[in-house]
Amino acid sequence: MNENWEKWKKRTTELDREDPLREFRDLFSIKDKSLIYFDGNSLGMLPLESEKTAARLIGEEWGERLIRGWNENWWEMPARTGEKLAGIIGAEKSEVIICDSTSVNLYKLASAALRMRPGRRKIVSDDINFPSDLYIIQGIIDYRGEGHMLELAHSQDGISVSYKELAELIDNDTALVVLTYVSFRSAYMYDMNEITDLAHSNGALVIWDLCHAAGAVPVELNRCNADMAVGCTYKYLNGGPGSPAFMYVRKELQKEAVSPVWGWLGEKDPFEFSLQYRPAMGIRHYLTGSPNILSLCTLEPSLDIFQKAGMDRIRTKSIKMTGLMLDLYYEYLEVLGFRLGTPADSDQRGSHISFKHTEAFRICKALLDPDQGDHLIIPDFRPPDNIRFGLAPLYNTFSEIFIAVCEIERIVKERIFLNYDSTVDKVT
Ligand SMILES: *Cc1c(COP(=O)(O)O)cnc(C)c1O
Repeated sequence: MNENWEKWKKRTTELDREDPLREFRDLFSIKDKSLIYFDGNSLGMLPLESEKTAARLIGEEWGERLIRGWNENWWEMPARTGEKLAGIIGAEKSEVIICDSTSVNLYKLASAALRMRPGRRKIVSDDINFPSDLYIIQGIIDYRGEGHMLELAHSQDGISVSYKELAELIDNDTALVVLTYVSFRSAYMYDMNEITDLAHSNGALVIWDLCHAAGAVPVELNRCNADMAVGCTYKYLNGGPGSPAFMYVRKELQKEAVSPVWGWLGEKDPFEFSLQYRPAMGIRHYLTGSPNILSLCTLEPSLDIFQKAGMDRIRTKSIKMTGLMLDLYYEYLEVLGFRLGTPADSDQRGSHISFKHTEAFRICKALLDPDQGDHLIIPDFRPPDNIRFGLAPLYNTFSEIFIAVCEIERIVKERIFLNYDSTVDKVT
């Protein structure tokens, strides 16, 4: 280790010691002390309290209380978890509910939005968006057969999309703008206020996808006058594998925005078993069928942790963490053929860092190899050439970032990645 490394080691140890959120790490299940987990943006870590809640729910509530569990706890869970999430994304309690997947919720809201803008043909998104969002829109257009068109703003650098590029597409023929607030590949973060205003001034509605934003950056849906939003809970929000997604519909729009999926849980009084559907008032209208109680129960304790930590403190630490990783990148990695796949300006950056390298995949494999170095490091690979490091302020440390960069440098400098082949797993 050279002299400068010693300096960084001291500095990161200090940052950890002074970190106001340092005690939150102890709230998570961290059994393997040599593991450095930088994939909280794909699957968040397990809160210890979620483990206990799940054991109680399965053993006592399901095991002993059986059907009585619905009235005693389960029925209110989609709305109750939605209320807890509302404060984390700048919405009112009556505007958020948790159900289904992000893709399904986007289907429901985009369909509702198109009906609210009859005669307008354009749907605008961008070419750095998450593919599922684009597929959902393509499917809606195909199914409705009303001549809608999806137009994509084009990113010049593969990292960001400028206001100008969107402004050229959004016009008075635009029904809907669908964008991901924090880009899944680059972590580029839009100016939500500015883009929402742009859409509104042209009479269009906006749906924000908050998958990589919720729990990672402060979101101000109400303050930005956002119309609708969707997002998943298993990434930074630590809901557990496949935990249900959330949806937000601005209060004033809830009457007019009609879900295309009329299920019994979105009905006014499901247990009246009326043969004719009557929509529930408010956000419950967007529920479809029975909620996923096991996953809602693992999500709820995590939302309590976020409420305690506060998004402002989380954002402050996140900016420090991504900033540290970029400083180390400029000092050690840029010379090794890496390029930055993330905005350099923290105002435009979420909570993950992307490095690009022609050998990104094999470098990733070396990091994931338990026999390589003192630590097993888990980032993820996003084609064609991105290594993503999700930095979760609740449990990641500054020292972990330092160790990871040391390890990346060693793997590339000593050409260790050459020992790995390029076969790709199903989930990367
Ligand atoms: C992860 C992710 C999704 C996937 O959501 P599902 O709940 O699997 O449908 C959608 N959009 C973005 C931006 C994502 O990052």
